[in-house]
Amino acid sequence: MANKIPDIAKISSVLSSIYPEAVCSLDYHGDPWKLLVQARLSAQCTDERVNIVSVPLFERYPDAESMADADLEELESIIRPCGLFRTKAASCREMSRIICTTYGGKVPDDMESLLSLPGVGRKIANLVLGDVFGKPGIVADTHCIRINGRLGFYPEDLKDPFKVEKTLDKIVPKKEQALYCHRMVLFGREYCMARNPRCSECPLSQECLRNKK
Ligand code: SF4
Repeated sequence: MANKIPDIAKISSVLSSIYPEAVCSLDYHGDPWKLLVQARLSAQCTDERVNIVSVPLFERYPDAESMADADLEELESIIRPCGLFRTKAASCREMSRIICTTYGGKVPDDMESLLSLPGVGRKIANLVLGDVFGKPGIVADTHCIRINGRLGFYPEDLKDPFKVEKTLDKIVPKKEQALYCHRMVLFGREYCMARNPRCSECPLSQECLRNKK
């Protein structure tokens, strides 16, 4: 017998009851440019560390204009604790320059323009579209990819972020997408970890294909 497709309405309802206030864990204070920079810094780094580094970073460079003129070595030294600091510094400065020269100092609110910025891929673009501009967007990060595969929305061995994004975009209601992805992150940290998920205590166990196997 074919496996039943997980019930997105039920999953979404359980997640919203356990994480009613799910928000982005990056402290960007409503500023889309800061979110872009922080999202770029968070590659292979924790959000917690990015938030710590962000304090001196945004004191020194409070907006795209100031970062566009940054001395690269100084910028690198501030963001060094986030790792990959040379690449990240170069793309943050270039991204800020393009925002100033091409977009009049404002972060664009469409996917195509966001993807034209150095260091910005679909994951970051969807995060910004959802969080700042209130547009739909599936943030296919490691938690999202892992958990939704385990739940059974697609094969567990599917790891391609673009395919995951496109699959979930058809399943998760548009107006819930940003929150759904934030809840996935919280749920992935509390229950459905990469190693040793807490299936026996999991509030989604009744809906989870992996648990039923
Ligand atoms: S039952 Fe286990 S694998 Fe399934 S969602 Fe819960 S923690 Fe993850």
